[in-house]
Amino acid sequence: MKTRTNQTSNKKPTPTDNPLARPLRFVKGVGEKVAMMLARKDLFEVRDLLYYFPRTYEDRRKIYKISELGGVAVGQKVSVIGKIRTSHPVFFSKSKRRAFEMVLVGETGSGLQSLALTWFHGKPYFASKISEGMIVLARGELTQFRGRMQIVHPDIEVLGKNMPEAEIEGGIVPIYSETEGLYQKTIRKIVSGAVESFASFLEESLPAVLMEKHGFPGLRESVRALHFPKALDDLDPFMKGQTKFHERFIYEEFLEVSLSMAMRRATFVEESGVAYTKPERLWERLKENLPFKFTNAQRRVLQEILDDMTKATVMHRLVQGDVGSGKTILAAAAALVALENGYQVALMAPTEILIEQHRRNFERWFAGMNIPATLLTGSLKAKEKAQALSEIASAGPRIVFGTHALFEPEVNFSKLGLVIVDEQHRFGVRQRTALIDKGRTHKPDVLVMTATPIPRTLALTIYGDLDISIIDELPPGRKPIQTKVFVERERSTMEQKILEQIRAGRQAYIVYPLIEESEVLELKSIGEMMPHLESVFGESKIAHLHGKMKAEEKQKILDDFRANKIQILVSTTVVEVGVDVPNATVMVIENAERFGLSQLHQLRGRVGRGAESSFCYLVASHLGTEEIVKRLRSMEKTQDGFKLAELDLEMRGPGEFLGTKQSGLPQFQLAQLPRDLPILQRARKDALEWVAKDPELKEMPQMRARLQTRADRVAMN
Ligand code: ADP
Ligand code: MG
Repeated sequence: MKTRTNQTSNKKPTPTDNPLARPLRFVKGVGEKVAMMLARKDLFEVRDLLYYFPRTYEDRRKIYKISELGGVAVGQKVSVIGKIRTSHPVFFSKSKRRAFEMVLVGETGSGLQSLALTWFHGKPYFASKISEGMIVLARGELTQFRGRMQIVHPDIEVLGKNMPEAEIEGGIVPIYSETEGLYQKTIRKIVSGAVESFASFLEESLPAVLMEKHGFPGLRESVRALHFPKALDDLDPFMKGQTKFHERFIYEEFLEVSLSMAMRRATFVEESGVAYTKPERLWERLKENLPFKFTNAQRRVLQEILDDMTKATVMHRLVQGDVGSGKTILAAAAALVALENGYQVALMAPTEILIEQHRRNFERWFAGMNIPATLLTGSLKAKEKAQALSEIASAGPRIVFGTHALFEPEVNFSKLGLVIVDEQHRFGVRQRTALIDKGRTHKPDVLVMTATPIPRTLALTIYGDLDISIIDELPPGRKPIQTKVFVERERSTMEQKILEQIRAGRQAYIVYPLIEESEVLELKSIGEMMPHLESVFGESKIAHLHGKMKAEEKQKILDDFRANKIQILVSTTVVEVGVDVPNATVMVIENAERFGLSQLHQLRGRVGRGAESSFCYLVASHLGTEEIVKRLRSMEKTQDGFKLAELDLEMRGPGEFLGTKQSGLPQFQLAQLPRDLPILQRARKDALEWVAKDPELKEMPQMRARLQTRADRVAMN
């Protein structure tokens, strides 16, 4: 963060001294301290502030007094002014729910009526600043609860102690996303000052052809409209972010990512790679070694891969397929193409457990082919590592299995022809690039695989630079995994069901969420559970796998589990990716409410891999909110990873969906997926066409400059 702030102050003055590029201190009301607070929101220069659009709007054309609420129908959205009488936590003994409540009374403090403001997720962040007697403006839907008037989760604006009514802004008021330490009122004043003084310096950022094509309103007009919508008859489209003005900015956000993808893609397409020949001999051998036949979907995707690899251009392909759809064998077949042509192949996976499993599978599939193989992981001893590095540097075809250790600079491939990245979503774009750059004489072909079924909507934005193949079919004979949600008090019923499976010779996983704030806490929760599990499942062997263990220990436990020497494997989410033990038929997920749908689906995919019926039990410590109920019930209803991913995306938004670490994910301000998919498609099409004609964006200088700024800021992080 510090470097970013410095970046602004060290900025070289541009020849024209563009007012929009001035530091925020040039804006009325922004001093050193406020500038620091705004920097925390990534706001550094005047332009940033102009583009800092309201999160929503408040209709304050009518502000109710508490005494007037009697005449308002329940269910209506209202803005109410009142004085804080009390502010305290509450506990509903019946439902065991905790909440936080503030009680508002009429401004004079007298009058019989009061209004309760209630927060169910606990104490709202501003509660510490609130004290008795303060005047606040609350907005939300008026409800009745046990004969009392109430607003649940209201928007609040703290007006202060003695606020004369005349000073309250009326009309349509923009609401900005909160910054710690800054009141709405202050932010509003600062932004409105900036818009007044600087909006006229904005130059149209979209080329005239695109403006005309889509009928967009101009930039200055749109900036003003979003910050200060005129008194309108219909505020609804503004609230929903669905006006022409919003649309133009949403389009612009999408255009920006689409252009950068299109430009990346253009550089790949030009790159010459190896034109491989089809590996007749090895593929025949592979088919003999396989205990199954390819599904139609696998065959189709393999053909797409082969088409890419036999072309003289470089392959950049993403294979998407639900858990268990059989992606690994495709990786093996692709590897054989490069290997038979005398090249090296690097296969990378995010965990040691997974890469070791791949190595063993390949060993079986490649039996009798005499293909040299090397394993490179972080936990090799110095001597083993030196050996591995020298093998990788030596001439001749070779398959190299590895984890993140493959990125290290000391890893030198002699003739790298193909890079395969499994569970791509666990790696960043930069890591992928680091490995690709290890091709010395030429760029290697690249095949990335992901089991997180990324909805097409997101795939287009994150992986817009890749071609996409989809395996939309599971191998035959898979039975649906019977999924059921249990609450705490039904635990013993569930345990009986697990016991039945164990007694029938099957195995079970019990997974706990990784508690990121505290590994101690995590171990404790599992540790506390172990005696209980021993007492229930004493007849079988139970083992506990966790992140603190050495790689060898983990491997030993997994080997024992695979060999059915262990029947119940208790672990954190380390089993999430890739682990394949067909005799395991029960997956129990504890605190299931803490997981997103896609992750639940991934975990569930660890079972249902053999011929027996499988079960997934989701244990919820509480079914507190409607959202949790909806999420867990949808697991009961569907096995379709893509459908679940779409739902997850809708419920949690792209940031949560992919985790904040996902470095490739663009941050949108106004755009929302999947809602704005049609706009994304338009922007993407325009971007591809534009880059085909004008690869360096000479005719789109504003956008080119913006992409440059963005790239600079990323580089500084
Ligand atoms: P994922 O796509 O999740 O990585 P895997 O590659 O681990 O899935 O495959 C899951 C299981 O299905 C493995 O045991 C694999 O050997 C098996 N498998 C793959 N393809 C087929 C097929 N066509 N028919 C039957 N089983 C298959
Ligand atoms: Mg896999």
